[in-house]
Amino acid sequence: MKTRPIILLMAMMLSVTAWAAPLTLASPDGHLTLTTGVDKGRPYYSLSRDGVVVIAPSHLGFTLTAGDFSSDMKIVRSSRDSHDDTWATVWGEEDSIRNHYNELTVTLKGGINKAQMLVTFRLFDDGLGFRYEIPQQKVLPDIIVTDELTEFCLPKDVPAWSISTNHTVYYEGIYQRDLLSRKDTVCTPLAIEAAPDLFLAIHQAALVDYADLNLTPRSGKDGAVTMLSALTPWQDGTKVKAGKSLLSPWRTVIVGRKAGDLITSRLMLNLNEPCTWDDTSWIEPGRYIGIWWSIHKKKHTWEQGPNHGATTENMKRYIDFAARHGFSGVLAEGWNYGWGQGEDIDFLTPYPDYDLAEVTRYARQRGVRVIAHAETSGRSLLLEKQMEQAFTLYERLGICAVKTGYVAVKLSGLELSHSQYGVRHYRKVLECAARHHIMIDNHEPVMPTGLQRTLPNLMTQEGVRGQEYNAWSVDGGNPPAHTATLPFTRGLAGPMDFTPAIFDYSDEVVPGTRPQSTIAKQLAEFVILYSPLQMAADAIESYENHPALSFIESCPTTWRKTIVPNGEIGRYVTIARQARDDSGQWFIGSLTDETARTLTISLDFLEPGKRYRAFIYEDGPGADYRDNPMSLAIRQVELTAADTLTLHLARSGGAAIRLTPIP
Ligand code: CA
Repeated sequence: MKTRPIILLMAMMLSVTAWAAPLTLASPDGHLTLTTGVDKGRPYYSLSRDGVVVIAPSHLGFTLTAGDFSSDMKIVRSSRDSHDDTWATVWGEEDSIRNHYNELTVTLKGGINKAQMLVTFRLFDDGLGFRYEIPQQKVLPDIIVTDELTEFCLPKDVPAWSISTNHTVYYEGIYQRDLLSRKDTVCTPLAIEAAPDLFLAIHQAALVDYADLNLTPRSGKDGAVTMLSALTPWQDGTKVKAGKSLLSPWRTVIVGRKAGDLITSRLMLNLNEPCTWDDTSWIEPGRYIGIWWSIHKKKHTWEQGPNHGATTENMKRYIDFAARHGFSGVLAEGWNYGWGQGEDIDFLTPYPDYDLAEVTRYARQRGVRVIAHAETSGRSLLLEKQMEQAFTLYERLGICAVKTGYVAVKLSGLELSHSQYGVRHYRKVLECAARHHIMIDNHEPVMPTGLQRTLPNLMTQEGVRGQEYNAWSVDGGNPPAHTATLPFTRGLAGPMDFTPAIFDYSDEVVPGTRPQSTIAKQLAEFVILYSPLQMAADAIESYENHPALSFIESCPTTWRKTIVPNGEIGRYVTIARQARDDSGQWFIGSLTDETARTLTISLDFLEPGKRYRAFIYEDGPGADYRDNPMSLAIRQVELTAADTLTLHLARSGGAAIRLTPIP
């Protein structure tokens, strides 16, 4: 009787020695180290940079309806791989992206019926990705995830920027800076300032058939804060219905020395599957305008009536303007039945004052494409029923893109749009659209995760508190820090259809509500807030004969290269982008929060020895977002790579610059 506990203890120690010896993996440049192992039967991982803990030991695993993958586990196998290649993007912030990582896959056994679970870690120079695989196994019944147990343990309580999961609708919130421990459950991306030279962003990649990830902080001993996974549930409370096998999205941690390193990381795209389509030539990034802002400004209506916006005549005016000023697309909101009271949504039938065939014919004749709008009001099943027929019609008429919308928290009144159900719906729409050569601009989406690498007709998405809040939000509009925060937060998830560039602040719908920025900052946002379909959001009357329009007319929406010369999260940021064509042009956007500041930017990214003409659109004399937002100065100077550029940004001001090589 007395010897049994000792034997048991010895057996346990043996098993600890045999299976808990941690495995490590280094990044290609050797700075990052991933460690994984099993602690008291629970799998974990940790991450360090040059010996400094970035992520302290954090648990991995699942609970399923059949049991759990978090106890009695041991590593039974491991394998390693490494990868280094460069791939070409169809569009984006870079024309080619290096995908360079070291990989470690561990096979864990235990938990449920001695079943297997694999975890694959990919360690890049700029961060970590890892994903779970539960292969089909005789000992496992259908896999239904009740909780994912992935943790991200920060060794200290540090400031981070995020939006709250429970108090934000459609991710349309103001990103708040606060200590991790003081946050409620948050959406990802979660941007963290762990130290003055250590910036992190936690998010995910390749959300293909799974639930959206949220994170709940839990304070631990020694001041550590652990972020616990909280997947968006189905209405029955389960999280993921996986069938016989499960492949999770990648959980990602970008690791940077500067805040700007978060923006230039391409880790999320690298962790998505390559596109396998033979032909992507029909996917065309570009600038667009539309019948949109005038509706938010209450001058037009979506539904029929005396001020209906999407009429044949009005669309023709917009198409003419687009043709004259180099916009490739024109959006019409409120063109189809489904906006008035009691009307059934019909994605095929235009209102009587909108001659769909004539509008699209007129556009084609002028080299402009019509962007259709498909607002579902959350009735996703209705769109699924009609989309094959609707997209067939659109394709025949030369409609190049569809802006989808889901103004409802639950799809078809049943499931949350961020649940696995929603993820599946959005993907069905993308795949159907691709069959008809239609690009998608998805509003009220699930948070993007880089799927545009696989499905490059996923151009841009909302999931952001955009410009429309500057039309009618009772809080006065987006605060000055908002667009100085977005590039480091929501922007890390992919393109944003923020719809920048309002030029006319008059005729307030709500007294005091308007863009809380100078007009130069509106131009800067056109460069900084990336979208391959970039909307110049104002009504065309505001652009006609305006000197600032020339910047927008010249600004591309797909790039060869992107760099971030400076930036502090929520305070200011400068982004420089090289045009993808062979023009050699560079475009720079720089903007600040409510603090005026002077920024000096080294131009060492320009081609050495070459002279450039710089067209600088900046805050003019006395510019101030509160009482003088329209003061704009435009000047031209000659510059080379040896020069530095000094920009004086007004309070909530900005600058937008085009640099053209002088032949
Ligand atoms: Ca919206």
